[in-house]
Amino acid sequence: MSETGLPSFEGVDSQITCAVCGSALQRPMWTVRDTLMGSTEQYNIVRCPECGTLRMSPRPDFSERRSSFSDTYPLFDWALGRKRPQADQRIGRFTAQINEINHRQRPGRLLDVGCGDGFFMLGMQRRGWAVSGIELHEKVAAYAHDELGLDVRGGAEHEADWGGQYDCITLLGVIEDLDDPNACLQRCQEHLAESGLLVVQTHNIDCLEAKFFGPHWFNVEAPRHVWHFSPDTLARLLAGNGFRQEALLHYGAAYVTERSIENRRGKVFPSSPFDRVLRKALIAPAAKIMPKLGQGIMIESYSRKGGGKSAAVAAATGRQG
Ligand SMILES: [Zn+2]
Repeated sequence: MSETGLPSFEGVDSQITCAVCGSALQRPMWTVRDTLMGSTEQYNIVRCPECGTLRMSPRPDFSERRSSFSDTYPLFDWALGRKRPQADQRIGRFTAQINEINHRQRPGRLLDVGCGDGFFMLGMQRRGWAVSGIELHEKVAAYAHDELGLDVRGGAEHEADWGGQYDCITLLGVIEDLDDPNACLQRCQEHLAESGLLVVQTHNIDCLEAKFFGPHWFNVEAPRHVWHFSPDTLARLLAGNGFRQEALLHYGAAYVTERSIENRRGKVFPSSPFDRVLRKALIAPAAKIMPKLGQGIMIESYSRKGGGKSAAVAAATGRQG
């Protein structure tokens, strides 16, 4: 098909415009399934020919995507009692983020949007922060509230009360799930103190591993992930919402590589002595080396208020920046 012609996917919905540049144009990329949760439903991923952002189109209603964060979702294993949480170990997963934020910002009020079981918040609380969180899954939110004693509200970010002003707002693995990333970043503008820090972490669709695995890449994760950003498009998205990026960090994740191998070959990894050698000799070292080469599987933007709104955002929100 041509860039301006009708997409060849049946039912592709041109109403969902690109969150980064506002273009309605789309080029079909992949048809994918929810391999993580084992559904047979198929989803189309398209590419914006103007800026390169990938998006799901058509996009299932939020209610359907919300239900795909079901009780069996692996990230809820600790909150829902399938794994026994060891606080230090769970907090340890966020050591890099906790150190980085504290390096850049004095302790104050933190809002973690999409806080999951709350261990990142607990780690920040231990460093002197007054923490609040919003979590989509009600039982997971209840765990963070009841078991960890944290100020966590259940509900989607666009439904929940964000409260007042914060010195730091974190969106760790959230922006890619949202119907409207611009609306969420505008809420961040409203609730972030003038000298506050915004942290946005997402997967990097531009990394070599994503290119290698294509539709089999674990982080494609349909239907939960509906946006796929790169270092360039994430910075543009933030700039368009009046944020000035002061640093972009890259991270590796060996489990993403391993789950991608599973997706590609339809068989558990590791399942042979060769797999175990591959894991030790290639996958584990790559997760450490690739981020240093600007090829992180995950990217994390540290931004502050500054600059104006893009024309696309101003038009969408009906306000001038
Ligand atoms: Zn675009």
